[in-house]
Amino acid sequence: MLIGKSFIGSERSGDGNVRYYGVNPAAKEQLETAYIQSTEEEISVATAKAVLAYEVYRYISGQKKADFLDVIADEILALGDALLERSSLESGLPLGRVTSERGRTIGQMRLFAQLLRTGEWVGARIDPAIPDRTPMPRVDLRSMERPVGPVGVFGASNFPLAFSVAGGDTASALAAGCPVIVKAHPAHPGTCELIASAIIKAAATTNMPEGVFSMIQGPSIDVGMALVSDPRIKAIGFTGSHRGGKAIFGAAAARSEPIPVYAEMGSTNPVFILPQALENRGDIIATGLAGSITMGVGQFCTNPGLVVRITDRNATSFDSQLSTALEGIAAGTMLTSDINAAYAKGIERLNSQSDVDSLLEREGSSADSGHPNLFATTVKSFCNTPDLEEEVFGPSSVIVRADNKEELLKVASQLSGHLTATLIGEESELVAYRDLIEILETKVGRLVINGYPTGVEVCHAMVHGGPYPATTDSRSTSVGTGAITRFTRPVCYQNFPDALLPDELKQDNPLGISRMVKE
Ligand code: NAP
Repeated sequence: MLIGKSFIGSERSGDGNVRYYGVNPAAKEQLETAYIQSTEEEISVATAKAVLAYEVYRYISGQKKADFLDVIADEILALGDALLERSSLESGLPLGRVTSERGRTIGQMRLFAQLLRTGEWVGARIDPAIPDRTPMPRVDLRSMERPVGPVGVFGASNFPLAFSVAGGDTASALAAGCPVIVKAHPAHPGTCELIASAIIKAAATTNMPEGVFSMIQGPSIDVGMALVSDPRIKAIGFTGSHRGGKAIFGAAAARSEPIPVYAEMGSTNPVFILPQALENRGDIIATGLAGSITMGVGQFCTNPGLVVRITDRNATSFDSQLSTALEGIAAGTMLTSDINAAYAKGIERLNSQSDVDSLLEREGSSADSGHPNLFATTVKSFCNTPDLEEEVFGPSSVIVRADNKEELLKVASQLSGHLTATLIGEESELVAYRDLIEILETKVGRLVINGYPTGVEVCHAMVHGGPYPATTDSRSTSVGTGAITRFTRPVCYQNFPDALLPDELKQDNPLGISRMVKE
């Protein structure tokens, strides 16, 4: 029998006696390899190794860390078709999708490597001494971002590559100078194992310290909780459900030393359609929206689960155009049987609301196997039923029918935090809806005009975050290079001799980076 063990630093370890298996969700079949759940002792050894690694890794130059990230990308690519096939088998995602996700994962590593090579990200600030200032002299003050320590990472099932073992959280934490311990997602254990082996290989090739990366595993939440509770872990990156994120955030806050948890959770990503656009191009919008709602069988955190539009003479036909477009899209395999069951439950919950109409009357469509669903409700009902704003993870959306602009603004004001909000409107009307934009800016991390929320670019300017409950910390992003400062903290060096300063802060600026200097 094939056995999958944890990576405790570079060592494979399988001391536990609980076993679990990957599942092919399309065939509903258990896969061959038995994975051994990590024990408390193994998790403790991984964190002890991470602490030792931190003492070395935090002083390794940006250049060398960049080489490490680039070689991780090379090693992932070298896994070839075996990675793509395993990932597709475990997730039910088509090969084309996992291939593009691999490209995104590798591109993400390389982007952080580029960031490290420029060295500018540390945010160096310098206030040189002014000994003759009156009435008080000023001392020399210099600050920059430094890594916080070992980081625990939890990935999500819906991105087995880009938000998993070598996903954005791991890339940003390693770039920041923090060793990483990943809790493998039990929905894709084989994919996790392959990627972990690539990271360990890259660490060896580039002479990174033992313990800079570990991967623990197991289907019990105790495994993740042991990581969160370990006093040597200094921050958590999490991508997943609201339930999971909230539990981990609570556990981290309850520690005798609470630590930051950057939990990126679900969201319903409201889309507001303005009247002129609805009248001029309702059919095109319906087709585009249907594509966004069903992309990846609706299993995206940026899936548009709420559509708010003003009733006018074309509005009813828009609802039927969207219904028709969705009816034409086939059901797909969902990532896991649990996610399928949660989707069915979510659809049942919407069906049971008295003021909510189901617009797709397909036989057997209500719950099973990732069939698209569409509902409609009134503003009054939306405002009185907080449940309607909750994520139903899958290809489903709720239309909120507003009678006028005031009602549209009422819905916007009532919203809680989301990752994105979208406005679809003609140029001439967008200006008249500036007040809507001003409200939405306080609710989300990314505002989209005349596009769809799915599709998140990995770049410098991206903000993939938002106020609670979209995340547990709205001050950052989990996608793009801005993510690096989640795992750093500013340190100020007062009155330091030049030789003891980090290179980034030395007087003659040996790295040639741009710095904020106040003479
Ligand atoms: P999930 O069930 O929350 O799982 C994520 C990870 O957290 C898994 O490793 C899971 O381990 C662990 N976990 C969950 N609950 C836990 C608990 N109470 N204690 C300790 N560990 C716990 O999420 P998922 O189903 O994989 O992912 C889908 C969700 O992720 C959707 O809601 C989607 O919107 C969201 N998502 C958000 C983003 C974003 O950036 N905001 C991106 C992608 C996905 P176990 O399975 O062992 O419990």
